[in-house]
Amino acid sequence: MAENLLTLEKICKAYNLGTAAQAEVLHDIDLTICKGDFLALIGPSGSGKSTLLNIVGLLDRPTSGRLTIKGNHTSELDDAALTRLRGHSIGFVFQYHYLISAFTALENVMMPMLVDQHFPTKEAEDHAMELLRQVGLTAVADNPAMNMSGGQQQRVAIARALTMNPDLVLADEPTGNLDTKSANVVFELMRDVNRQNGTTFLIVTHNMELARRCDRIIEVVDGRIHTDSTEILAMSSSLAKQALSHKGPRHGE
Ligand code: ADP
Ligand code: MG
Repeated sequence: MAENLLTLEKICKAYNLGTAAQAEVLHDIDLTICKGDFLALIGPSGSGKSTLLNIVGLLDRPTSGRLTIKGNHTSELDDAALTRLRGHSIGFVFQYHYLISAFTALENVMMPMLVDQHFPTKEAEDHAMELLRQVGLTAVADNPAMNMSGGQQQRVAIARALTMNPDLVLADEPTGNLDTKSANVVFELMRDVNRQNGTTFLIVTHNMELARRCDRIIEVVDGRIHTDSTEILAMSSSLAKQALSHKGPRHGE
């Protein structure tokens, strides 16, 4: 049985609470994500996918409901504790890579470790080089990010997301700006990291071809979970079992 990484219970989110502009964006989201899951989050634009990712990533707090990450009830944590939990548990990859363009690939990947201050520079550099090797970019480690292709930049962003060895990587349309071939390389890279390191991935995508290659697809519509492929599979297997158990002996048997 897979171990729980995080649980959302009745998570609601409203923006501009108590003002005329109040907008209820997420409604009663219940979701459990297990260690090692590789999930796609799909749904129409404006359905609340990024809002959900921001809440799971501890970048924003829900209006109500309970979010538990690695056994921590996040509503009980102050901002400093949330920052620590985020820093050591969660990596982010966005549609736009947010690299520092004048810095080299290596410097960009080293950055979170240097900010953390627990890493001596040499150790940070060695670890960053190892991550660049994992994403296939050793040869361009010293190139400034601005001289790299979109696909390479996104691979640097993935290496950077992995620096603190997170349990979970949240990727918000990570292939949205890429051509089909680069999108495929970036997707396969995330899949490899998932298989090799056991890192959990939650990937927002509009690309159904990529979504179908994930282990589980969650569809959000109007701030609610509309479908969860795990439930569909569970339902279809219980329906299959029911069908089998109701099948009486055939005539002549
Ligand atoms: P998606 O990522 O699925 O496109 P979002 O989570 O970005 O959807 O947005 C869901 C809804 O919440 C949209 O109607 C959007 O306009 C609204 N929204 C998102 N962020 C904010 C914000 N900071 N303030 C007010 N409304 C917001
Ligand atoms: Mg979005």
